[in-house]
Amino acid sequence: MKLKQLLSELSFVENIILDTSFIHFAYENDVFDLINLEELCKEFKNLIIIKSMSKDFGIAGIRVGYGVMSEDKVSTLLENGYLWNTSGIGEYFLRLYARKEFFNQYNELRKDYIRKTQAFFATLAEIECVKVYPSRANFALVELLDGSLSEEFVAKMLIKYGIYMRTCRDKIGLKGEFVRIASRKFEENEIMVNAIKDCFRG
Ligand SMILES: *Cc1c(COP(=O)(O)O)cnc(C)c1O
Repeated sequence: MKLKQLLSELSFVENIILDTSFIHFAYENDVFDLINLEELCKEFKNLIIIKSMSKDFGIAGIRVGYGVMSEDKVSTLLENGYLWNTSGIGEYFLRLYARKEFFNQYNELRKDYIRKTQAFFATLAEIECVKVYPSRANFALVELLDGSLSEEFVAKMLIKYGIYMRTCRDKIGLKGEFVRIASRKFEENEIMVNAIKDCFRG
């Protein structure tokens, strides 16, 4: 595992914060099981794993997330007054999340979403004039090969089809014209594919 190697080489760093807020899209085998990183905190005492629940559950409003770290670090946090930093609703959610049936249902939906997202990327890749880069997130880097500027393409998609995409003009190190396309619901993805095809035609 590359991460383990990286952590071994960074053992001199006091605190390493690993933000896993988007990890629910990642997987390590053919059946899309989640990657379990929490065990690493036992081996690497400088590691702090954090996860926001805002994105995968769509609950940014109730401000829930968690951190996993060594016992020493937990003690230091508690000594410094980090005991009462959640709300009743937040706690209610975490109790739901800790229930096995809840988690299993969540995990099935998660896998279904990944399957649909990967299918969407594959469909996008069939469109002429674009190159879709491999992704294990809910969005993909897409290169425009028809000679249009990414800003023009993004503006046209928004004005003509009501679909917002992000240009990647501000990303350092990219040479060419790129946009970022995120996967949504199955039906919305279909609309998006048709709109992109139509956009290249007209
Ligand atoms: C959204 C996000 C956060 C912040 O999440 P909140 O719990 O809503 O404050 C942190 N890290 C990453 C990677 C995120 O995507």
